[in-house]
Amino acid sequence: MEELARKDDQQSNLLAMQMEALYRGAPASAMSIFGGVLTILTYWSPSLAPMLTGWFACICVIAITHLSSAAMRPEFTIQQRWKLDWSPAAWSRLIRIVYFSSGTCWGLGGSWLLLQGDDHQTLVMCCIAMGAVTVTYPAVVYRPVFNLFQVPIFLAFSTAFAISDIEYSNLLAVASATLCVALAIIARSMGEQLSMAFRLLDTNRQLTEQLAARGSVLEEENRELTAQTLTDPLTGLANRRQLIEFLRRVPDRCAVLVVDIDHFKSYNDTHGHGEGDVCLILVAEALRHSIRSSTDLVARHGGEEFVVVLTEIDRDRALEVAETIRTNIQVLAAAHPQKIRRLVTASIGLAYRDEERQKSSSDLLIEADSALYAAKNGGRNRVETLSDIHPAAAE
Ligand code: GH3
Ligand code: MG
Ligand code: MG
Repeated sequence: MEELARKDDQQSNLLAMQMEALYRGAPASAMSIFGGVLTILTYWSPSLAPMLTGWFACICVIAITHLSSAAMRPEFTIQQRWKLDWSPAAWSRLIRIVYFSSGTCWGLGGSWLLLQGDDHQTLVMCCIAMGAVTVTYPAVVYRPVFNLFQVPIFLAFSTAFAISDIEYSNLLAVASATLCVALAIIARSMGEQLSMAFRLLDTNRQLTEQLAARGSVLEEENRELTAQTLTDPLTGLANRRQLIEFLRRVPDRCAVLVVDIDHFKSYNDTHGHGEGDVCLILVAEALRHSIRSSTDLVARHGGEEFVVVLTEIDRDRALEVAETIRTNIQVLAAAHPQKIRRLVTASIGLAYRDEERQKSSSDLLIEADSALYAAKNGGRNRVETLSDIHPAAAE
């Protein structure tokens, strides 16, 4: 079923491209009018004037239909509101009618004149008919149209030659019919090659589109994968890998906080691992809300331990933020009584560096860890730094 729909689509695309090429050659239709004028000038006989004028009017109407329908035709891919929103098949029907009526008009008018004129006029008439067929030669992009034009012309001419009594008329009738068949054969092979070229063009376009679409899907998947490798799946915070990356390019003036939940093992033991996970998610949220998201980073370092990096900050302000974090964790139980089963606190170790106190990022982490150890030993639920002991927070 899908295969059928794809084939239908391809056929429609091919027809659209053929119509596009055909209508682009519509100005050649103006040549019909020129041919008509030329014929009238050649057949100046006043007795023929009313017939000639009628014939010329027919040619004009057909040429104008062709030109104006070309102007009303939208790009088959871009539909514009003020233009006719027809399917390629509908445009194909219209152009077949135009070409067939044009061929018939030329054939009947030309052969009628041929029967009225002398030898010279016959020659001019044949030249004009040949010219008309040549002018429409681009129509082989859609073979039926070319044949609908040229067959009525040559059929009418062959018949006119056959019934006329001009010199070599029978020979001319055969020549005209032979030419008609020859042109049909040439149009057939050229038309097939052009169709093949259009088909390849369409396939090429589709492949390019598919490649571009696949490229953007891959790009998106790649972005997601990269994000996954840098994110902690439980809390959505940065993971240790992202933390290390961040610390590599962190500015000189910064503070590193190691935040560890107090007695979390007993929380798990009492309320279960699932409840413990919920608690970790809420602590992560509290941490995230305590920092400036554009310049700072919160990472889950492992288990129930988090690392916060504060950048471009002075030491006192860093201590204030650490204190805020400690408080924000402590109030979680009151803020989420359904989710946090009892008071949860955290101990925080802080290490600081600036232009005067130079130290590497790993030294900062080690120092913050030691400060955390001091906070745990000092009774937990407090912020500590190694160089000066910050006043312990109230339990
Ligand atoms: P302290 O105050 O000294 O930090 O005590 P503690 O119990 O928090 O420390 P300890 O290192 O003994 O225990 C850490 C606990 O954290 C043990 C483990 O069950 C729990 N834990 C680690 N990762 C996870 C996790 O992903 N989910 C849950 N629910 N618990 C975790
Ligand atoms: Mg702990
Ligand atoms: Mg721990």
